[in-house]
Amino acid sequence: MENTAKIPSYLSRDSLGPWETYLVQIDRVEPYLDKALLPWVETLTRPKRSLIVDVPIRLDNGVIAHYEGYRVQHNLSRGPGKGGIRFHPEVTLTEVMALSAWMTIKNAVVNVPYGGAKGGIRVDPKKLTIEELERLTRRYASEINILIGPDKDIPAPDINTNEQIMAWFMDTYSVNQGKTTTGVVTGKPVSLGGSLGRHDATGRGVFICTVEAARHLGIAIAGAKVSIQGFGNVGEAAARLFADAGAKVVAIQDETGSIHNGRGLDVRQVRKHRLETGSLAGAPGSEPISGDDFWGCEVDILVAAAMENQITEKNAPAIRAKIVAEGANGPTTPAADLILQERNILVIPDVLANAGGVTVSYFEWVQDISAFFWSEDEINARLDKIMRDAFAAVWEAAQSKGILLRTAAFVLGCERVLMARKLRGLYP
Ligand code: GLU
Repeated sequence: MENTAKIPSYLSRDSLGPWETYLVQIDRVEPYLDKALLPWVETLTRPKRSLIVDVPIRLDNGVIAHYEGYRVQHNLSRGPGKGGIRFHPEVTLTEVMALSAWMTIKNAVVNVPYGGAKGGIRVDPKKLTIEELERLTRRYASEINILIGPDKDIPAPDINTNEQIMAWFMDTYSVNQGKTTTGVVTGKPVSLGGSLGRHDATGRGVFICTVEAARHLGIAIAGAKVSIQGFGNVGEAAARLFADAGAKVVAIQDETGSIHNGRGLDVRQVRKHRLETGSLAGAPGSEPISGDDFWGCEVDILVAAAMENQITEKNAPAIRAKIVAEGANGPTTPAADLILQERNILVIPDVLANAGGVTVSYFEWVQDISAFFWSEDEINARLDKIMRDAFAAVWEAAQSKGILLRTAAFVLGCERVLMARKLRGLYP
């Protein structure tokens, strides 16, 4: 670590996880920030509020089980907190801190009027029954109620959370408030104040950014070879959009394994097979490959849409792609970033590439507050404009300063956050 003074005493220096990645990213961007904003930079390395809650539930067999829950509001200078909720057995405070910080930067990069927040429960939701999952969600919503609200902090889905969980969350908050408050979470079912286009929005944003990057590099999407790591909400939608645009999705990897077809996989068939069997293996028209072969697969575009720390100094030297698009948050370690840079592989950073999800979350929140709902075409057109404009601004900054797209995106995002911080001033 270049600047250990920035590590708060409540964290163990040995297990900073993704928070360390984030701190290195801030160190790398600092030299390029407007000098007038530098007195405020430390703000970015200190989350505003971190709430740790106990989430007890009664299991179906009568036993009381306790889970660790978190909600971190990293920065609220530009508006209410915004960011998803993750249910995963490996969730930690430092992971949620990093994810909340990336939300701060991401929301500023696409210029939606939010600060950054994130939540999570350390649980394997696949081991719970649907009734247990509902009780867990409702108890967690109640425990973090002190921080949440449509004008305070607005959760959304993330890994292993979906629109049903958002519906329970919204209902719990509403019952406690005594009124239906749809704007308290986004990513809800369309029949309950959700937005058309939200389901595919993150994958669509990944696709839009990649099309822009490919245009700059002179790569045609029709016929381009694409590999996809992570086949959840983000990876599946991105894969489908690439295939529909004439690209060949030649490899897909998720936690169940890796599959390949040099002529292109049928993404909808793979999805159907994955839903029916719970695994990628044996999907129609696919052959199994090893994890190493997946990373070494020769492609034009690699979409990293699983989770943090997937592209490391171990596999980065083997990657044979021209573009890496970060659909996940924090998939590339700082060491791997340098390797990909050296090897002339263009990385479209998470805070830009996957910002389509929160952008349509913003549209959902605006629709809920105004109680007026837009058509899917209107939503997709607005998303397209925001993503293209953000990509163009980041690309232009990277070119003019001779820096990586990640650093350029961080310059744009951090300067917006720090300008807001400076203008608001220090109270008292
Ligand atoms: N969890 C998503 C993300 O990491 C969406 C957040 C949101 O819509 O608030 O960007």
